[in-house]
Amino acid sequence: VNVTDYQKILNQIQSELSEVKVTGKVASYIPELAKVPADKFGMHLYNLEGESFCFGDSDARFSTQSISKVLSLALAMKTIGGDLWKRVGVEPSGAKFNSLSLLEDNFGIPRNPFINAGALVVADVLVSNFSNPKAAFLTFLHELTGDDTIAYDEVVAASEKSEGYRNFALANYLKSFGNMENDVEEVLDFYFHQCSIAMSCKELAQAFIVFANQGKLLHSDRQFLTGQQVKRINALMLTCGFYDEAGEFSFEVGLPGKSGVGGGIVAVHPNHYAVAVWSPPLNPKGNSELGMAALERLTTLTGYSIF
Ligand code: GLN
Repeated sequence: VNVTDYQKILNQIQSELSEVKVTGKVASYIPELAKVPADKFGMHLYNLEGESFCFGDSDARFSTQSISKVLSLALAMKTIGGDLWKRVGVEPSGAKFNSLSLLEDNFGIPRNPFINAGALVVADVLVSNFSNPKAAFLTFLHELTGDDTIAYDEVVAASEKSEGYRNFALANYLKSFGNMENDVEEVLDFYFHQCSIAMSCKELAQAFIVFANQGKLLHSDRQFLTGQQVKRINALMLTCGFYDEAGEFSFEVGLPGKSGVGGGIVAVHPNHYAVAVWSPPLNPKGNSELGMAALERLTTLTGYSIF
């Protein structure tokens, strides 16, 4: 695909999808997400040549939510390496992102790091390994993106905490199985902050280019993650990035990716590009309805996916 084609294809996606009548609903479990306008729509593609293609609200920051689980996982893998896999699995769950039911059968080992239970174990690892995990995670994001304005949204984090009954249940359940080293409150405080990170499509595409570039940063040429770490994270995004819709995303789009209930989706075409799309209304599985459609159009119109 040459450069002019990418921008033409993005323009086509924008015009085709602005006609679509969306039936999904904006996440409403906290007021900060409920009040985001449903018609926000943006997309940003960043390729290994450092070129950017975009449309719509691609520069507006939104709540990354579960997209942040990929970045906390990357920091945990960088920090403790393979020991992480004693505490969290690498299999798709086929269940909702906040499911409690799979832990019982698995002796408290979450199926994968992207369902909430798995992300809470990852958060626990970071809390164990850093004296100030919130500061460490921000430093990691600032190094990854080269942008030190990326920050927690304290209002979102506080709201998540006040409504986070199910996450409290999950963390306590993990603790009862001995798969939570730290105080439940402390781990949840980190997790809620992690989910509150606000980034735009442009910033997400630039952050995720490391997963398309064999672990090397594009803005500094530094080897930030190993090739093996990137391979594994991409594999997990492909098989587990969309919870009980991972098969559907793979079938329709054919790229590793990760969604969040803020309406964002990031996808990676290894050795080519990273792309982020944002549209708040979610389908019943908690994934952005228009975001999924936009990425399906992208791989169909370019004719390239990982398959
Ligand atoms: N903060 C949300 C939660 O923990 C994140 C879930 C998501 O984006 N799927 O419930």
